[in-house]
Amino acid sequence: MKTHIVIGAGQAGAHAAVSMRRAGFDGRIVLLGDELVHSYERPPLSKSFITELESERIANFFPLSHYLNEKVQVLAGVAAEAIDPAAGAVSLAFGGKIPFDKVILATGSRPRTLSVPGSDRVLTLRTFADAVQIKKAFTSGRKVVCIGAGVIGLELASAAISRGCQATVLEVGDRVMARSLDKAASRTIEAMHRDAGVEFAFGHSVVAVEPHAVVTDVGLRIPADVVVAGIGVDRNVALAQSAGVSVGKGVLTDASGRTNIDCVLAAGEVAEFYSEREGAHVVLETSRHAQMHGTLVGQVAAGQELAYDDVPWFWSDQHGANIQVAGSHRAAGSTVYRGDPLSKSFCAFYLNSQSAVVGAFGLNAGRDVSAALRLIRSGAAADPEILADITITSGKLVSAPRA
Ligand code: FAD
Ligand code: NAP
Repeated sequence: MKTHIVIGAGQAGAHAAVSMRRAGFDGRIVLLGDELVHSYERPPLSKSFITELESERIANFFPLSHYLNEKVQVLAGVAAEAIDPAAGAVSLAFGGKIPFDKVILATGSRPRTLSVPGSDRVLTLRTFADAVQIKKAFTSGRKVVCIGAGVIGLELASAAISRGCQATVLEVGDRVMARSLDKAASRTIEAMHRDAGVEFAFGHSVVAVEPHAVVTDVGLRIPADVVVAGIGVDRNVALAQSAGVSVGKGVLTDASGRTNIDCVLAAGEVAEFYSEREGAHVVLETSRHAQMHGTLVGQVAAGQELAYDDVPWFWSDQHGANIQVAGSHRAAGSTVYRGDPLSKSFCAFYLNSQSAVVGAFGLNAGRDVSAALRLIRSGAAADPEILADITITSGKLVSAPRA
């Protein structure tokens, strides 16, 4: 009987293991995860988990009974220490080896950390245990400093405010969510935070974290009882590297999740996969990607010939508002607004020079962003007047006559 091992029991790993079985692989499947809690959703950890005092619920992707039904052997709290592709064996951190025919690396990422004096005082957020610690620290009246104005920093600033804390976001760049938003959308989100009472310091790097203050490179001393950092991630590529698997920003794969070594595949946030859409290798750090990519790579491991072609999409919840981003604004030449961009609900459609929608940003406009996703997939030219016409329901934007 063949054995396939999935290393990393996060969203990508859990979906890879289950989809492999569903795709017809009838050998042994082992899902190996170093966390004690089995495969759970991370998105609530920076949102409802912190803000809802009475709830400490973990949302699992699948109940344990599901893995039993699918004959997926789950080993929680077990880290893989090394992969030997030539011998076909994974060594476990507590000793012992599991032989394999194929292995899927789904080892994800870990938070980047600061290396300044006092950085041991700084909390980061990735796991359930991290979230428990942050939730305890966010008590009413405390001064919270969030380092980094990315999704983690902003979601935690929002959670801090809703817990009655004061929040300051300190960012080395000059605007919020610069990786994923255009300048106008950054301004919208920043204004929403300022309205809720969040303060910002842009263009600052932290040089020290003192017991009651964060000190920046321009001499600003921000009072702080709690300091959290959301300054990006480092992908967990060490296992791959020591096994001779090619690594760039992440584990390099083709469009099907295959690496340079036949028996090794990679899925989810750890993978830097070839995207036909982008014509380049890319990494994605979103929930949808982890699920869709994990599912596809599991199917490939089961013998199916598939290529990944999902349009990037993510959401974030901040101060009670729902933010959704589809595709990218980077290749856009123009922006069409559906709704008033100064209001609490609108969608920005990003169009390229052929008038095709290539990206969208929605504030409390999930249906418009769903329409945008379909338009991006179609690649066809869209009529800017139709996109902007709020008398046409978002569901009809895709079928409306085009320019
Ligand atoms: P991971 O979730 O990192 O899972 C990898 C697993 O592998 C981990 O459990 C790790 O401990 C384990 N592992 C690593 N090395 C080994 C080893 N040697 N042996 C065994 N196990 C190992 N995305 C959105 O789209 N919307 C959101 O609102 C959103 N909110 C988020 C909030 C937070 C707080 C965080 C942290 C992320 C959020 N994301 C969100 C991003 C999304 O959750 C991640 O992109 C997704 O979880 C990545 O899944 P993954 O399985 O690829 O990696
Ligand atoms: P992020 O989105 O990459 O944002 C990090 C921000 O911190 C960037 O603006 C970065 O600027 C800035 N920064 C870096 N070093 C800094 C420093 N020393 N001082 C001040 N600012 C600094 O990363 P993140 O917010 O930490 O999120 C981590 C992971 O969780 C990502 O994988 C993310 O996708 C995922 N996540 C997703 C969601 C969501 O989709 N809603 C929510 C939470 C988390 P530069 O870009 O200039 O380096």
